[in-house]
Amino acid sequence: MSYIEAKVPPKREQRLGACNVYGGDGCGLKKSFGGCCLQQAKRGFGQGSICQLLPGTAIVNTISDAVVIVHGAIGCGGPGHTQNAGVRGTQMARGSTNPRGTLWLSTNLNERDVITGGEEKLEEAIRQADRRYRPSAIIVISSCVPGIIGDDIDAVTSRLQPEVAARLLPIHCEGFKTKIMATAYDAIYHSVARNLLDPEAETVSVIVDDIEVARERIRRSKLVNLLNVSSMGSVDEKELTRLLNGLGLEVQIFPCAAHPDDFRKVTEAALSISTCPTHDDYFVKHLQQQYGVPFVQRFMPIGIENTNQWLRAVAACFNLESIAEEIIARETAELRDALASLTPAFVGKKAMISAGEVRALSLGNLLQELGMEIVAVRPYHWDEFGETALDQLVANQVREPIINVATVHPYESVNLIGKTTPDIYFGHPSDSVWAAKTGIPTIPVYHGGYTYVGYAGAFEIARRAWRQLANPTFNHRLKQHVRQPYQAQWLAEHAFHYITEGDADGPY
Ligand code: SF4
Repeated sequence: MSYIEAKVPPKREQRLGACNVYGGDGCGLKKSFGGCCLQQAKRGFGQGSICQLLPGTAIVNTISDAVVIVHGAIGCGGPGHTQNAGVRGTQMARGSTNPRGTLWLSTNLNERDVITGGEEKLEEAIRQADRRYRPSAIIVISSCVPGIIGDDIDAVTSRLQPEVAARLLPIHCEGFKTKIMATAYDAIYHSVARNLLDPEAETVSVIVDDIEVARERIRRSKLVNLLNVSSMGSVDEKELTRLLNGLGLEVQIFPCAAHPDDFRKVTEAALSISTCPTHDDYFVKHLQQQYGVPFVQRFMPIGIENTNQWLRAVAACFNLESIAEEIIARETAELRDALASLTPAFVGKKAMISAGEVRALSLGNLLQELGMEIVAVRPYHWDEFGETALDQLVANQVREPIINVATVHPYESVNLIGKTTPDIYFGHPSDSVWAAKTGIPTIPVYHGGYTYVGYAGAFEIARRAWRQLANPTFNHRLKQHVRQPYQAQWLAEHAFHYITEGDADGPY
């Protein structure tokens, strides 16, 4: 049975054996993952993590002409506030002169609802949303409380669908169900596949590796799906669209900022192009198996060689290799000239990175290309998709980087910073704030307003790193005026002291 036939998608721990506990070297990580030991690994102490509702709302809040109902306690919808500016920016970048921002409601479940059930509140919220806003879709995203008390959001949406004009999309995103927040990507793609794609669309019986079937479809069209689950801002989308247009391809972007009615077009494309396997593998495999749309899925096009390989892989599907080589030669020559005055500042500099698995490793590849040494990488989780980039990262250095698989956990990060003394730290704000307080310059590993991918992204990251390294005064002063919550006793302790199972070897 296909995953999509079930109401609820599997969590990443089940589907991919993903885990988020490890401290040691790359070789040990691969060995533990291959031997399935990592799935038993635990932390005796945890400090801060990310629930899957955060990336979940980051995607659904961008869907145009839709209302999001966060079914749960009121605080679960909180990320909607921080996502508002980014959503408005995307709407403006797509041509809106009157950006609406996020439009989300909450069923605001309380103690009484925990006893009596929350389905009535959800029904009322759906009716209100349909009546007040007349959206094309109402997205019901379920958080922990309904999952614990047993509210059946699929039954509620099926029951109400005939009464309302909007398409109803139930999404199971209960934070307590998984430690791997990337499960949210599957949850959203699962609901899109079940509710927004046309089951009558032309299907092609295809075996995954049937190149001839794939080629036939590719010959019929040069329309491609570029997938973005909110890990690229408009400027990143623009950079990749520019490169794909250079190959003569027409680009349509899903799922972020797409209109609910447009999702059916995803099955008409000649190729799906993933920007990250952690994000898209659930969906691209479904599109191939159900609709015969082949896919390209490599690691992120962050870094010069990663971008070259990403572009070559796409071009190979259309027999456009020679055009791709022309683009690569032109772009890398321009980039080399642009970087010439910046790279001397990176020689001998040590960097530490904390981010989603594929993003952290791909960024590490770029920083090595710029001349830096990676002293530690902290992927948020680990599964099979990180292996190629990890091998590359390890092979490119004399001294192996430390690998700390952790969804944030700043106490491990601050400990490692003390042991490895990086010159610069790349992370999301929830990580970087702790690094900044130790006095080292930081750079956001993602921000919707900056370019990270492609050749433009390589230059932008280099330019920002150069500026931070040239003037770290802010962080030096910050260190003098803030107090870290960690005591000397912890900072002298083994960084992976609380990792009670799995491989925690190493002189850290
Ligand atoms: S962990 Fe559960 S209760 Fe907390 S924000 Fe996530 S979904 Fe809501």
